[in-house]
Amino acid sequence: MSQALRNSPPLEDFWMPFTANRRFKAAPRLLAEAQGVWYRDVDGRPVLDGASGLWCVNAGHGRREIADAVAKQLMKMDYAPTFQMGHPLPFEAAHALKAILPDAMDGVFFTNSGSESADTSLKIALAYHVARGDPERNILVGRERGYHGVNFGGISVGGIAHNRAKFGPLLPNVDHLRHTHDPAQNAFSKGQPEHGGVEMADDLLRLFEIHGADRIAAVIVEPMAGSTGVLVPPKGYLERLRELCSEHGILLIFDEVITGFGRTGAAFAAQRYGVTPDIMGLAKGLTNGAIPMGAVAVTADVRNAIIEAADPLAVELMHGYTYSGHPAACVAAIATIDIYRNEGLFERAAELAPYWQDAVHSLRGHPHIVDIRNDGLVAGIELAPRAEGPGKRGYDVYVDCFARGLLCRVTGDTLALAPPLIIEKSEIDLIVDTVGKAIAAAA
Ligand code: PLP
Repeated sequence: MSQALRNSPPLEDFWMPFTANRRFKAAPRLLAEAQGVWYRDVDGRPVLDGASGLWCVNAGHGRREIADAVAKQLMKMDYAPTFQMGHPLPFEAAHALKAILPDAMDGVFFTNSGSESADTSLKIALAYHVARGDPERNILVGRERGYHGVNFGGISVGGIAHNRAKFGPLLPNVDHLRHTHDPAQNAFSKGQPEHGGVEMADDLLRLFEIHGADRIAAVIVEPMAGSTGVLVPPKGYLERLRELCSEHGILLIFDEVITGFGRTGAAFAAQRYGVTPDIMGLAKGLTNGAIPMGAVAVTADVRNAIIEAADPLAVELMHGYTYSGHPAACVAAIATIDIYRNEGLFERAAELAPYWQDAVHSLRGHPHIVDIRNDGLVAGIELAPRAEGPGKRGYDVYVDCFARGLLCRVTGDTLALAPPLIIEKSEIDLIVDTVGKAIAAAA
């Protein structure tokens, strides 16, 4: 263990999230500084950020515009409530966000995280049908392998078994579509896979048979599943889901917590794939990861149905967080959106995408690699599991990448790569070279 690690504070007091605490604390990986696309660990060793932190630092680290805006705001007015009171900043932030959202999005509700955005989306969907006099429409449909954060709504509609297993019965009235991963037909797809999109979306017809389409309130999906290992939607899939939902009065929710803010080469995946949902959940890139913040955007139809059905003197939606529209988060969001626009970062992601695609697919042919998937500036590299069990090889490669100076993500045996949108081609080459060496070195 290095001197810096020996000098670090005691590690036992912080119960780390989504971490094997004992394993981590026996061999910690601690980051200390960040600038551009580079971290430094506590020993001063450079680590290339191939994961935008945790899919959130899309404009790169150390953005002075955001830091200055936050510092200034905290001294001007650190906090003000937004329940039956207000201050100008959330209105300004909502307006700035609306300018980059799909045109149909008309209202913005602020949260503090992706998990809160997921649960808020579900509550808005249920409240919409109640407001329209259809309270029996209360079944929520998620998807296998879906990730919608860790709150009870999100894990109920989420489709990752480990995340649900130990938390009781969860929400009633939930069902799941099949996932969209079909390596037999679509392995090594570049961009959107060709095969099976419409048939996969038609799985919703099966749920219509079981529950009745008129009982389903909403379908929630990540347009491109990120946390479960980068599953790009096959061609026609989102279009068909949209068609079925519209035909049957079902709200379509896109959880764009990862896909938002340029990741797929457009501001949002809704624009990238040309399919507009009724409700969108956002977080992460909204503030470039600098301050916690999430948002839920809704169409005029959704917002008006809920607001106009209520008594004008009554609270329309019994929902909100102490920090909904926090002043520091609002100025961080406004500064971040300015950076995206002024530097053309979404366009930059789209321009770099073909280079990124060629670079990650150059790893094809390695015996451990069973699939490579990509879109925009995101890629998943799936490794064959070792005989001793799933996830072992993936974890070892992930740790070895860090030892070689690269931060990536791992889910099971899939490495996920999602660098800041400011990455240079030479740094893309370095990411791919490092991943290739770590995979080659892995047993
Ligand atoms: N939804 C999606 C699609 C996500 O990828 C994530 C986090 O990765 C979340 C929700 C949860 O976000 P948070 O960790 O900010 O609660």
